[in-house]
Amino acid sequence: MAVLGDDWTFLILRQAFWGVTRFENFLSNLAVSRARLSDRLKYLTGIGVMERRPYQTRPERFEYVLSEMGLDLFEMALLIHQWADRWRGDQLDSNIEKRHRPCGAHLSMGFQCASCDEPIAPGTIVEDTGYRCRLVDRIDGLLHRWQRRKAAPKHSSSFDPVSYALEAFGDRWSLLIIDAILSGIHRFDDIQRRLDVARNILTNRLVHLESEGLVTKNAYQDAPPRYDYHPAPPARDLHDVLTATRAWGLRWLYPSDTDAKLVHRYCGQAARPKLVCTSCARPILWEDVDYADPEMKEAKAKMMATVINAGGS
Ligand SMILES: [Zn+2]
Ligand SMILES: [Zn+2]
Repeated sequence: MAVLGDDWTFLILRQAFWGVTRFENFLSNLAVSRARLSDRLKYLTGIGVMERRPYQTRPERFEYVLSEMGLDLFEMALLIHQWADRWRGDQLDSNIEKRHRPCGAHLSMGFQCASCDEPIAPGTIVEDTGYRCRLVDRIDGLLHRWQRRKAAPKHSSSFDPVSYALEAFGDRWSLLIIDAILSGIHRFDDIQRRLDVARNILTNRLVHLESEGLVTKNAYQDAPPRYDYHPAPPARDLHDVLTATRAWGLRWLYPSDTDAKLVHRYCGQAARPKLVCTSCARPILWEDVDYADPEMKEAKAKMMATVINAGGS
């Protein structure tokens, strides 16, 4: 999921998750122009995902650290990695192995309903319409900027699951289309109405999603020909990424006005999606995610330290 004007914002966030805080370091790691970097950092601090803090007074210098709201994006980040490992793993140079510290198992995650502890399956969360419009609108704005893959920057890391994932999703419309199909809307015209998207854009994205193996297309009528679309397994697996996006939106964009707005159809209670380890069923906390690779381990420790320092200052 990408962010602000293009993929740059998402890449900046990833650097932040790896412990990078200083302008010059973002600049050299990302090979982005100064003007663009400065613009994107302004955006990220503006929406509250990062904070700008002085680390030196003469001359005055600032660093950029993840806010609590930014750190909370870890669920989405982990789930995108999980998706890329599962569905595009054969195209990657190496996988970054992660373990769940409390049980020691290879990290594997899924959402449960906090009210009934059942897994949250596609189509089982019912949304209040007004809420949905507002949330999708805002998330859509974020995704729009996070996902414009045409502007996807080249950067040095050979392991880049996120760009593989972005290749597959295409752009914000693709994720919203998958979201609609997963929620049980299958016919072209119904998807078009639900998303209020131009027909040519919808056609275009559906062709792309079909070629990426995310949706399958069936004719349900011959004359005139009409089609419906169904999710392939990789698209079903994106449901968790979408749920993470919603859960994050609930926590940060509508903190006071949430519980009644999402209902878990299975139990009829307010839906508060809880990300749990599929091996031990404990909730996934960012502190409990261990990287096998020593470099990644160090990067994560560094990042945690910057966040703790920021919180304490
Ligand atoms: Zn439930
Ligand atoms: Zn576990």
